[in-house]
Amino acid sequence: MTAPTRAPLMPLDEARQRLLAQVQPLPGTESVATFDADGRVLAQDLVSSLQVPAFDNSSMDGYAVRTADLGRADVVLRVTQRIPAGHTGQPLQPGEVARIFTGAPVPPGADAVVMQEEAELLGEECGVPQVRFTRPVTPGQWIRRSGEDVQRGATVLPAGTRLGPAELGLAASLGQAHLTVSARPRVALFSTGDELVMPGDVPPEALPPGAIYNSNRFFLKALLHRMGCEVSDLGIVPDRREATLAALKTAADHHDLILTSGGVSVGEEDHVKPAVQALGALDLWQISMKPGKPLAFGHVRRSTAAGQAHFVGLPGNPVSSYITFLLMVRPMLLQMQGVRQHDWASIQLPAHFDLPKGDKRREFLRVRRNAAGGLDLFPNQSSGVLTSVVWGDGVVDNPAGHTIARGDLVNFLPFAEWLA
Ligand code: AMP
Ligand code: MG
Repeated sequence: MTAPTRAPLMPLDEARQRLLAQVQPLPGTESVATFDADGRVLAQDLVSSLQVPAFDNSSMDGYAVRTADLGRADVVLRVTQRIPAGHTGQPLQPGEVARIFTGAPVPPGADAVVMQEEAELLGEECGVPQVRFTRPVTPGQWIRRSGEDVQRGATVLPAGTRLGPAELGLAASLGQAHLTVSARPRVALFSTGDELVMPGDVPPEALPPGAIYNSNRFFLKALLHRMGCEVSDLGIVPDRREATLAALKTAADHHDLILTSGGVSVGEEDHVKPAVQALGALDLWQISMKPGKPLAFGHVRRSTAAGQAHFVGLPGNPVSSYITFLLMVRPMLLQMQGVRQHDWASIQLPAHFDLPKGDKRREFLRVRRNAAGGLDLFPNQSSGVLTSVVWGDGVVDNPAGHTIARGDLVNFLPFAEWLA
């Protein structure tokens, strides 16, 4: 007799592709104040209507000069004007220089700035200060040219750019007080599992046997906020079929994604899976990834509005849930907001550990960079150990069956990039 064969695991990249193929950018855009646009995604190209800097200006405190006047060494010139930042000067005549300060417009006729440390003041003649320069002067020196940062008409930030602090500053430097951004994904978050207790409802010393605190709900909510989502935390789904159907229907009408954790293992009894099937469709995938493996993906039809809400059921084990969110749900949410580039970029770093036996699934090992420029491995890689995620600052993306010897270069994915 042959042993029962299990269906082969779905490669992670295939699962991602299948999931992302179902996800369209959300309709509708919103105008938000640039001050409030951190984390949002630009829905239109940001095209500059001006040059930055807007005018040639001095990058030093010193003297604006005409280099043609400086042919002869030791030439003495007259300081005929003073131009602080925010003021404009007069055209510079032959034999004249202008006292100038950082950020002030370079006056017409001037083609270089000499820093004040290289100038020697010689006193006044007829009430006009005289100056001499102690070093050779190159045309163009210490002038910030108009448009050297941004040219008028240039696309400064393309649609699909996720806005962070630097992007907001750049948009403001172009005079943009408001930005057109994509709609926020509206996400309904559910938990499943009779063992789950909310922190605050029961103190640790009174936790009943078999009960655990619901930790997934906390990091999932925080991760969703980081991804620019509006989150409705709908708590624990009532453990009855009718109530589950009603909860899913209402959630679908008002959300773009219904996200649950737990209850997606094969053969697990719960009401969510059949309820999603009754109201839409659901696939149960077994993905070649560790931590993680089971993932439910489908949709729930809307009863009032047109269309449907996506449904994703993450595995219940906290580390599985966390990593699967980053690998599968994060790109989905970014794609909904029109972000074009949401792949992860790995860095090759040396392993400062051994992995004598590679797992048969593609594995995401929690590691931490050390001071020697290598990666240390968290000793307990179990999918329930959230400490590994807190201790680690990223994961090694290790191919199925691949062993690692100390010193080998491995693919490191920093958490910081995912959480930005
Ligand atoms: P499940 O995927 O429902 O079989 O759950 C797998 C493991 O994850 C079990 O040990 C559950 O108790 C645990 N688990 C499920 N949901 C949560 C949650 N929201 N917070 C913490 N642990 C959970
Ligand atoms: Mg469960």
